Amino acid sequence: MIYNQILVRFGDLTLKGKNQKVFLKTLYKLMDEKMEGLNVYVERTHDRIFIHLNDEDVNKVIERLNLVSGISSYSLVVKCSDDLNDIKETALKLMQEVVKKKTTFKVNTKRADKNYPMHSLEITKHVSGYVLSHNSDLVVDVHNPEVELNLEIRGGACYLFNTNIRAMGGFPVGVAGKGLLMLSGGIDSPVAGYLAMKQGIEIECIHFESTPLTSIESAQKVVDLVKKMAKYAPGNKINVHFIPFKELHMALLDNVPESYNITIMRRMMYRIATKLAIKQNCLAIINGESVGQVASQTLGSMNTINSVTNYPILRPLCTYDKIDIMNISRKIDCYDLSIKPFEDCCTVYVPKAPATSPKKEKAELFEKSFDYETMVDMAVENVNSITISADSNLDLSMLGLEVREVLNEIKQK
Ligand code: ATP
Ligand code: MG
Repeated sequence: MIYNQILVRFGDLTLKGKNQKVFLKTLYKLMDEKMEGLNVYVERTHDRIFIHLNDEDVNKVIERLNLVSGISSYSLVVKCSDDLNDIKETALKLMQEVVKKKTTFKVNTKRADKNYPMHSLEITKHVSGYVLSHNSDLVVDVHNPEVELNLEIRGGACYLFNTNIRAMGGFPVGVAGKGLLMLSGGIDSPVAGYLAMKQGIEIECIHFESTPLTSIESAQKVVDLVKKMAKYAPGNKINVHFIPFKELHMALLDNVPESYNITIMRRMMYRIATKLAIKQNCLAIINGESVGQVASQTLGSMNTINSVTNYPILRPLCTYDKIDIMNISRKIDCYDLSIKPFEDCCTVYVPKAPATSPKKEKAELFEKSFDYETMVDMAVENVNSITISADSNLDLSMLGLEVREVLNEIKQK
């Protein structure tokens, strides 16, 4: 392979004025973390990053690069000296590697060094003339070329590249503060968490677990999903808060009319999430709701459910089609885990006819039938919090206990 570096661009980041310093610091740190263990050298300039590949496997480097939020695009480049003959030779070699049949092409030159003795257009003419005369497969088309050969002259060197590949985009995770992700074992919430991180939000996760009403595998699924998401997180790790939800779950099954079970269960989740978010300095709650997907996600339901809190609730997927959510889920390698058929608290005892337009007043009335406030406080108090890293080998079933006992044990260690 002829390429010896990857040129990384940050896009919008450079426009952020005063915040630029924080953004860059976060991005550099993230980049260093994700490249750890690879034999590359990361060179920083004021508006770009150059990854020197040394002899590292380029696919491995790209795989890691795709975990860094805040990068807009990258190009595989060949670096040579800014001597015109060297540029011509390198350009020819690059085109010979890229072009295998009759192809239209165009050369673009950018001259960051204004002292360079030739203008951009002259350089373009010299280089394209040389390449054309040595490679008969190439034909110039300046309007609609199949291949563009870009030359950038800066700092005494010339960078040559012919691709511009879209990267993760967004902002470096962490710059937007912290949010609390309501994480179930389904398809949607891990995708919501990924999109939040991509937008710069560091996440902690809250999971409502109802073992033994639900299986230990459903809690393990959450652990495994967090491992996948942790690859994108700062430090490759994420804090997860397991809320013991069984008592509250049982109480509402006993006291609330079936059609309002889900509405009230979700109101309880929002109440608990709000308290935990405040405790953990999370400035918003994030979840995987998508308008119209299920009965609890009609606007009427959302309105009644959301009315228990005035905390900001972010719903990154609210307007997404399921198919687009599934595509992202596959991209972040969560899909196969998410579709494993273990029940969670939302899937046990699903009412036959859930209210699609539940009324706030009715929900409040039903909630008066049991002392939920104490139970909400107890749930928050008895939370089991653990940190899960991308390379964790945590296996909850190994201990042969109920989830909350297992988690308690892990927490004590
Ligand atoms: P998902 O695929 O994320 O499970 P869903 O379409 O199945 O979503 P619901 O089960 O109604 O929808 O849940 C909506 C959202 O509520 C989820 O995306 C998630 O953010 C949150 N949620 C549901 N169950 C739990 C749980 N047990 N623990 C934490 N959050 C949950
Ligand atoms: Mg679900």
